Amino acid sequence: MLYARMIISRSIINSVYYPRLQRYYTSHEMGQRTSSSATKLKTRDKETKSKTVANNNNNGDDAYAINKDIDIDNDHRKKRKVLVVGGGAAGLACAKELLQRKKSLDVKIFEQKSNVGGVWFVNDDRSDGDKTAMYDNLRTNLPREVMGYASLPFTNGTVDERRFCSHREVLEYLEEYAREYNLFDALQFNTTVRSCRKEVRQTKSSSSSKEEEEEFGPAWTVKYVVIENMNEKVEKMETFDAIVIANGHYSKARTAHFPGCDEFPGKQMHSSTYKEPSVFRNQNVVLVGAQASGEDISRDISREAKNVYLSAKTWQNAEWGSNPTILNNLFRKPNIKALLENGSVEFEDGSVVENVDAVMYCIGYEYDFPFLDENDANFSVHENYVSPLYEQMFVPENRSSLSFLGLMWKVVPFPQFELQAKWIAKLLSGETKLPSKDEMMKNVEDFESERKKKNIPKRHWHCLGDDQFAYNDRIAEYAGEPKMSKWRSEMYTKTGLNKRTNPEKYRDEFNDMDALQKALEEDLRFGNKNTLRRRGDAQVVHALSDDLSQAEKEIIEKQLSTISDAQMKQLKIYSQLLLEWNQKMNLTGAKTEDEILKRHVADSLSIIAAIENTCPESKDTSKAFKVIDVGTGAGFPGMVLAIARPHWDVSLLDSLQKRTKFLDHVADSANIKNVKTIWSRAEDAGNFESEHRERFDVATARAVADLRLLSELCIPFVKVGGAWIAMKNQSGLDEISKAAKAVELLGGEPMSHQEVQSLGPDGSFRLVVTSKKIKGTNKKYPRKAGTPQKSPL
Ligand SMILES: Cc1cc2nc3c(=O)[nH]c(=O)nc-3n(C[C@H](O)[C@H](O)[C@H](O)COP(=O)(O)OP(=O)(O)OC[C@H]3O[C@@H](n4cnc5c(N)ncnc54)[C@H](O)[C@@H]3O)c2cc1C
Repeated sequence: MLYARMIISRSIINSVYYPRLQRYYTSHEMGQRTSSSATKLKTRDKETKSKTVANNNNNGDDAYAINKDIDIDNDHRKKRKVLVVGGGAAGLACAKELLQRKKSLDVKIFEQKSNVGGVWFVNDDRSDGDKTAMYDNLRTNLPREVMGYASLPFTNGTVDERRFCSHREVLEYLEEYAREYNLFDALQFNTTVRSCRKEVRQTKSSSSSKEEEEEFGPAWTVKYVVIENMNEKVEKMETFDAIVIANGHYSKARTAHFPGCDEFPGKQMHSSTYKEPSVFRNQNVVLVGAQASGEDISRDISREAKNVYLSAKTWQNAEWGSNPTILNNLFRKPNIKALLENGSVEFEDGSVVENVDAVMYCIGYEYDFPFLDENDANFSVHENYVSPLYEQMFVPENRSSLSFLGLMWKVVPFPQFELQAKWIAKLLSGETKLPSKDEMMKNVEDFESERKKKNIPKRHWHCLGDDQFAYNDRIAEYAGEPKMSKWRSEMYTKTGLNKRTNPEKYRDEFNDMDALQKALEEDLRFGNKNTLRRRGDAQVVHALSDDLSQAEKEIIEKQLSTISDAQMKQLKIYSQLLLEWNQKMNLTGAKTEDEILKRHVADSLSIIAAIENTCPESKDTSKAFKVIDVGTGAGFPGMVLAIARPHWDVSLLDSLQKRTKFLDHVADSANIKNVKTIWSRAEDAGNFESEHRERFDVATARAVADLRLLSELCIPFVKVGGAWIAMKNQSGLDEISKAAKAVELLGGEPMSHQEVQSLGPDGSFRLVVTSKKIKGTNKKYPRKAGTPQKSPL
């Protein structure tokens, strides 16, 4: 091997990422850290504004420049209306850039689902029509540092600290991005674009319209459907000056028809509908296609299946399926010749596998733009190639009024989206211009003839691979933006190499320490902003038990020492059930009982003192004291409070029925009598007409959401004289002032906060935020479901 693989142990990574936590334990230190970081951030914003103008091409040194409220001399021109179709990673990147030009652009983002994130948004109960190709055990195939946008480092974990993290962590990150850049205000969820047609301009005679059309291209009439209250679909129409297509390319599954497939008695499915391996327990499964999904899903299934056969023409990985030491029930097969009526599968080398229970097609997706008429929009899709597109983004005929974002594959998508988005934003706001139509067409022809010369099949023309870095540099140049930092290509290349040579373990054993170091240094140039990122969900995967310092151990022991033996027994049953049910549904990232006790139980106990200090009546065992735990998830802190304080009457509220069912089962099994569950969204259960409104002495929350949102979801449950108590981490300090208005509106007195000694799920100190309710909540709060998230008070 030409290089020595460096296996970086968890503890080395931790020492780089997660400095010992006890430094946070005094408020004096904490205050200092927060304010100095905040100052650094403010300074950075100012500095980068001027740097971006002064130094546009410095090979990544200023890759993180943020342009805020870019002031363009556009007074002579009306504001241009821009629609972004899709709120996935690409749409968000574009929204951010466009929204920084509010003086010249009027921006809307239509997203058909009920949240941002696109493929990364997995509605836990998989309802809401939110189809996505993600499956339960999916971990990213790129390390988080390289995957993240340049403007918001993805170096730290919120729900999963691993470098190759779970899809849940990516969604958290994308939500964070949308919040960071205030994108939610412009996002319109549950809104599906049905058609975009060129507008016949009535005012063509006016010279300014002609000029506008020559420079920017035509306007577009957009028909769309909005799902409003009570699931009513309302059709609407609006005209836009420009449309950015960011609808993704992982929704229309490619199909395959092998001889005999209609008669084959076994199951046939596309990888896009695969969710988890247990359905294949003890079965023989044939997977077709050995690219990223074929490799990953075959690994996932092989843990449950009897045998897995991976059939393909080409292999991205020499080892996969051919080396029995990797997985001994995974076998490589050539192309399928036929599926047989008797349940066997025959391969091109003449071999036959009998008793095949299922065939899964991991053969990718097709570009699909059902809302565009190809003739009207002057493009076509042939053999999965979209053409003609200048730099794979603009149809020359439509100039910048129609752009395609993120068509490329085998790339690092998020940072590439950002560069493309910057270029689009500058074009639409008139800061830069596209070349003439002829020049653009020439560029397309050159690109196509080069691909033909290299004998690349047409269906792979949007595949960039190693060409992505030259492409990115070109887009950066067109956009007048700094190039991507060099460590990104280094990390990408090393990861690829590691994956090919160490396919089973490349996600946990790394060989890119140099690039990682550079990534972290770049993160630090943000004023270590990332360490202030919101954290605290109960799903951190990483176990720190061996790394705990003496101080940390003492904190945990102190919390647990308040628990009686009988209660400890109940907690044990709870922990065991949590681990058991976690196999079938996503409840916690904790992997052992020990970890649950330390990270979640002890942490939940740490709130009790705050409740008892704020509401002394809670100590009176002769009176019922009513607590509601809002967004309880796996039952933290609510279930633990019920166990620790048997005289409290605790309600656990969650919007997912499967979670409330789990909690009911825990209550039954551990004989916890003072707990009940409420299956509802908080906005509905706290509604003016709900039986739960203003009925509780205390509403608790340990969810990761921002205090502005949490206050609207929690305070309506609290009766006057009661209190709202939220468990936060360091981000809570910043959020308190921002949420002050919301709390006042909802009837709470100004929030106070105190530190408690605890180790949250992420290993940080705890901040407990409290507000006593001093007047009834106005009946207009909480607003209808989804609105508090979209536009927090
Ligand atoms: C299984 C799988 C694993 C992957 N793993 C990785 C990985 O590890 N690392 C990585 O960097 N990338 C990975 N990717 C690639 C991933 O697709 C990109 O990271 C990126 O998220 C794509 O973003 P997007 O916005 O282009 O598309 P999407 O995420 O698909 O978002 C498009 C959005 O447009 C919306 N939309 C579509 N049509 C309409 C309409 N008519 N009206 C309104 N809204 C509409 C959709 O609802 C969706 O939200 C993976 C992809 C898949 C499928």
